[in-house]
Parts: sequence; structure tokens; C-alpha cells
Amino acid sequence: MAREVVRAVVCPFCGTLCDDVEVIVEDGRIVDVRNACAIGAAKFTACQEHRLKEPMIRRDGELRSVGLDEAIREAARILAEAEYPLLYGWSSTSCEAIRVGLELAEEVGGVIDNTAVVCHGPSILAIQDVGLSGFTLGQIRHRADLVIYWGSNPWDAHPRHLERYSAFSEGRFQPSAWRRAVLKIKAMQARRRAMRAKGPFFLAKEELPEVPPLPEGPEPPEELFRETRRLIVIDVRRTPTAERADYFLQVRPGEDFELAQALRMLVKGEELDVDEVAGIPVDVLEEVAGVMMGCRCGVLFFGLGLTMSRGKLRNIEAAISLVRDLNRYTKFHILPMRGHFNVTGANVVFTWTTGYPYAVDFSHGYPRYNPGETSATDVLMRGDVDAALVIASDPVAHFPRKAVEHLIDIPLIAIDPAPTPTTSMADVVIPTAWVGVEAPGTAYRMDHVPLPLKKVVEPPPGILSDEQVLKHILAEVRRIKERRLEKEALVKAVA
Ligand code: SF4
Repeated sequence: MAREVVRAVVCPFCGTLCDDVEVIVEDGRIVDVRNACAIGAAKFTACQEHRLKEPMIRRDGELRSVGLDEAIREAARILAEAEYPLLYGWSSTSCEAIRVGLELAEEVGGVIDNTAVVCHGPSILAIQDVGLSGFTLGQIRHRADLVIYWGSNPWDAHPRHLERYSAFSEGRFQPSAWRRAVLKIKAMQARRRAMRAKGPFFLAKEELPEVPPLPEGPEPPEELFRETRRLIVIDVRRTPTAERADYFLQVRPGEDFELAQALRMLVKGEELDVDEVAGIPVDVLEEVAGVMMGCRCGVLFFGLGLTMSRGKLRNIEAAISLVRDLNRYTKFHILPMRGHFNVTGANVVFTWTTGYPYAVDFSHGYPRYNPGETSATDVLMRGDVDAALVIASDPVAHFPRKAVEHLIDIPLIAIDPAPTPTTSMADVVIPTAWVGVEAPGTAYRMDHVPLPLKKVVEPPPGILSDEQVLKHILAEVRRIKERRLEKEALVKAVA
């Protein structure tokens, strides 16, 4: 039985992109995964089973298996005949595939959008307005002594974020109290075993030095990590991350903006003439503002709880302004917690290709960007688009009902490795290889660091990568357009 351990694999699940994963492969099958969290490991172990195996086209209301060439020709025909197609998804595929997708969108004069439109789109708008005090996760790991999560619960959504980069991580200038404590206890246990082995065999247990038991579970004792890094969680509910925080500020839903502005006033030395703001007593806010101003290096990670609650981009502007105010006293950074593993890459590739990070419209022959008008949800809800290509995404499960109603009404092409509600409603379904497991590529971590994704196992026979499928569709669209031009020229010549 051929057994191989593939090391330094990047996990293609969330925006943390952990790059220390080890995958054990036996006879071309993934049998075990080391170092990944439960959700990352599940992606590697389940993806080979949970997958589409054949291209399909809807005929007489039923999806029927067809050859890959036929599915590609049908997808190209739909896009080439459409007046104003939508190309949506892109956050769970490689940068290489996204680049081809942008070329295809320009070729067919459509609108192309990524999943930022339903997650950190408002954050991007705020960053374009007021800037961002950015950093890499490595800097935070080594230097941050204060970590804030606002509207984000990494314990469940990005499980290794705390351990690898923030509150529980081991840094050069910020040692992990948790790790030090465990190492110390292990050394004492080893010394005790050595003494027992060397000493007279009648050495009683009571005569050996006392060794405390190893702490159980992943949690550091509270008093240990209070010595080093501090953790503040701001959220509408007590999440598992909040359970581990030094300060938990339970903000009243929809009042994050007021809270950020109150903290800004305190940081600027102004007084609050009220007893509480957003459900939090002012004396607690004063203490927290003092902790923020007193740290050596702080970071504010914010999630959809801040971005998608009332105020949206104004919340983010207020949070970025708070960080800017704090930089008068100390070093402070801010970063969105990105979900899909390459949503940052989608924004980056869109930007370096068109100048805009999402919601790009090519219908005028050049890229236009006006979120609210050119975003996927808006063109669908207005009923503007007449065909759609969805790749590595499931808008049928996540978009507003009105947008989904139009999406399933128009010719729909779905490119995805796995069956989803979107593939079940599509007219053309093309299965592809899992990026980062069955196909290589590049992805950007949430802090804009590009990382190479590995091919760990072969995809099933006949299954191509997203990039290859898109290249075939693009070539076919160009062929159809050339034929159309030739026909038009012939008609003109005859007339
Ligand atoms: Fe994968 Fe995210 Fe878990 Fe890291 S934290 S192993 S990237 S799912």
C-alpha cells in the first residue's frame, strides 16, 4: 500500500490559510489530516466523496449526464448569446482561475462580482474612504499584546486564528503563556521520571517532587494569559471566543457605531455625559479605552457582526477612525476577518486587473464600478441580467429570495466540485477539481499574503480544474463570436 505524507499543505477552507497542514495519502486517497482544525480536516477527508462526477445539461426539466465538450459548448453558447450575463462567485477558487474569469467577463460584456458583495463589501467601501492601518498576521503573532475581536467569533469560524496568530500564539516578543506553562510541567514530569529511575527502588512516591497535572483541554488557565496578551471581545452575544476574553463588551444589537464613537471620544480625552452607551456602562468603557491606549501593539479584527449590522460601512469607518486615534498614543492595526479561503485573492485579482475589487460591469466595453448598481444582488433583484455563470459559490442558498427567483429563471451555468442548491437549479453543471486538494493554484490570506495551494491527490478521470474549464469556455465563446462576425460580413457582402 503506497503511503505518503504531504507536508506544508495550505488548508483551502477559511481566510486564515493555515500552511502547516500534513495530509496522509494512501493509494491516491486522503486517509488522515494532521494540524488542521476540525472543519479544515473535514474538507480534506470528505471532499473526495462529496463531489459531482459528471457534467450535466438540463433537458425536459431534468439534469442529464453529458460529455465535458458538450457542456462547455452549451455554457459558451449561453454566455455568447446573452446581452448582459452575470459571472459570480470566485472566492473559493484560485487566483489563476479568477484572472481567466475576468477575461471571460470582458469578452461577453457582462457584470462580474465576487462574494464580498454579501460579506465584507461595506468594509471595502469604508477602506476606500478612510484607508487602513494594515499589517501581516506574522507581525501580530510576534508583537501584539492586545487583541480585539469585534463582531467576530474565530473560536468557531476560524478555529486556528487564535492559536496561530493572536491571543494564544507563541511570538518572538510575545511568548505564549499557555505553551510556556505546558513545557514547564512536561520538564518537571521528565525530571520526576528520571529521579525515580535512578533512585533506590524503595524511593516512596511521597519523596518525589510534586508535579502539577497537565492542564486539560485547549484552554489556557485565565490567569496565565492575563500575564501576556490581553483579549477583548465585542459582540451582541456571549460567544465561545467571548468566554476566553479579559473583557467582553456585550453591545446592544445595531449600536456598534455608537460604541465605536464613544470609545473614540474617550481616547481623545473627552467625557461622556451618559451612564451607558450601547448597553455598556461608561466606567467599563473608560477602563477598556485605557487598556487600548496602554498597550504596546494592538490589533482590531472585525467580522460580519460589525460589517453587516446597522450602519454597515459607517461602522467600519468609525472602527478605522478609532484605530487611527489610538495610533496617536501607541501602535494599533485593524483587519477584516475574511471567510472564504480566497475572497481576499478575488478582491486583489479584480483590483489589479480592472482597478476595482468587486461588482465590475463590462457592458460599456470598459470596467465600471458602482456597488448598489453593478453588484450581483442588485442586477439580479432588478431582473437586468439574462444569463449567469456561478463558480465555486452557492448563491441559491445565500442570496435574497428575489435575487434567487431571477437567477433560477434565466439560463444558469454552475461550475463547482460539489452538489449544492445552485447546481441543482442550474441548466449546465460542470464539475471541477477541488482547488488546494486536487488542483494547485494561488490564494491570498486575509492579510494579503499570497500562498501556493498544493495538489495533494489526483482528481477523478476527466475532471479539470476551474482554470482549465474557464479557458475552454473562453476559447469557445471567441469561436462563436468569430463565426457570428463572419456570417454578418457574408450577409453584408451578399446584400
Ligand atoms: Fe483550515 Fe481555517 Fe481551520 Fe486553518 S483555521 S485549518 S485555514 S479551516
